[in-house]
Amino acid sequence: MSMFRKMDLSDDTFEKKSDGEVEKVKCLIIGSGPAGYTAAIYAARANLKPVLYEGLQPGGQLTTTTEVENFPGYPDGITGPEMMEDMKRQAQRFNADIRFGLASDSDLSSPPFKITIDNAKIVHADSLIIATGATAKYLGLESETKYMGSGVSACATCDGFFYKDQDVAVVGGGDTAAEEALYLSGICRKVYLIVRKDYLRASKVMQERVMNTENISILFEHVTSEIVGDEGGVNGVILINSKGEDVRIDITGFFVAIGHTPNSSIFRDYLETDEVGYIKTIPGSTKTNIEGVFACGDVMDAYYRQAVTAAGTGCMAAIDAERYLGARHTQAKKVPAG
Ligand code: NDP
Repeated sequence: MSMFRKMDLSDDTFEKKSDGEVEKVKCLIIGSGPAGYTAAIYAARANLKPVLYEGLQPGGQLTTTTEVENFPGYPDGITGPEMMEDMKRQAQRFNADIRFGLASDSDLSSPPFKITIDNAKIVHADSLIIATGATAKYLGLESETKYMGSGVSACATCDGFFYKDQDVAVVGGGDTAAEEALYLSGICRKVYLIVRKDYLRASKVMQERVMNTENISILFEHVTSEIVGDEGGVNGVILINSKGEDVRIDITGFFVAIGHTPNSSIFRDYLETDEVGYIKTIPGSTKTNIEGVFACGDVMDAYYRQAVTAAGTGCMAAIDAERYLGARHTQAKKVPAG
C-alpha cells in the first residue's frame, strides 16, 4: 500500500517553472547516493515533481565500492555502480528530473530556499532534501598531496588496477580500510595495512577476512610520517612504530581509508550540525532546524552510514517533504474569515 496520500498540488506556486536563470521547483533534492535516489523515487511517486542534482560524483560513494553484499533484495550481491544505476533508472521511471550539477551555495533564510547550481543558476525550492553524503578524509601530509594521482589514492576500486602485481599500503583500521585491503589483495602482490592503534575497528567478519588473507600484512601501532617517491611516483612510505623508530616499506601505491567528512559546508550558516559537520535532525525524522529543509543519508548519519540506512532516511525525507508541502498547501487555500 502506498505510504502517500493522494493530493492535488497543482497550485501555481508549487509548479516547476523557469524564469530566466531562476527556476522554481516544489521539491529539490541534492545528492545522488542511495539517500538522494530513494528520496527521488518516493517524491516522484507522490507527484512532487522532484528535481535532483547529482553533484560531483554521480551515484555517490557506492560507485567506488566493489561488491555490495548486504543490501536486501540482492541475494547474489551487486556491484555498487550497478546498484546506483538501478536506483537512478527507478527514479526516472517515475519522471524524477535528474541532472548533472553541483550545489555551490545556499540561502535558507526563508522559503523558497535558494540553491545556487554550478556557481551560476539559482533554483528556488519550496522544499529541500539534502542528501550530499560524505567525502573521504586524507591524512593531511604534504607528501600525500604531492603524490595524489601518482601513487596516492582514496579509492582502491578506481585505482587498484594500476598497481597490479605490485606492493601497496592501505592506511586505516575501519571497514573501509579492510575492504580496500581485501580488494587490493586480489590484484596486488602484497598489501600492508597500516593501523595506528593495536586493534582494528572494522567489523568482526571483515577483520577475519583480512587476517585470513595471506598477502595482507597488518602493521599495528604504526603512524604514517611521509610518503616518498620520485618523478615516477611513489616508491615507499616512512612509518613510525610504537618504539618511535622510523620504518620504511617499499610500495608503489598508498591508499587512504581513514573515514569521511560530511558534505554540509554550504548549509552550515543555516543548519545546526554536530562538531564534525553532520547535519542534526529531529530524532525519528529527517527534519532539520529549518522547516521545509530535510537531511538524509551520510550527511546526517555519523553512526550507521550504510547504503540501506541511507536509502531508508531518503524515503523518510520524501515523506517529510510531502507532508510539509501538503500542510503549506492546505494553509494557502484557507480563505481568511471576513
Ligand atoms: P571509520 O571511522 O570507521 O574508521 C576510520 C579508521 O581510520 C579508524 O581505524 C581510524 O583509527 C583510522 N584513522 C582515522 N584518522 C586516521 C589518521 N589520521 N591516521 C591513521 N588512521 C586514522 O571509517 P570507515 O570509513 O572505515 O567506515 C565508516 C562507516 O562505514 C563505518 O560505520 C563502517 O562500518 C561503514 N562501512 C561499512 C562497510 C560494509 O558494511 N561493507 C564498508 C565500509 C564502511 P582509530 O580506530 O584509531 O580511530
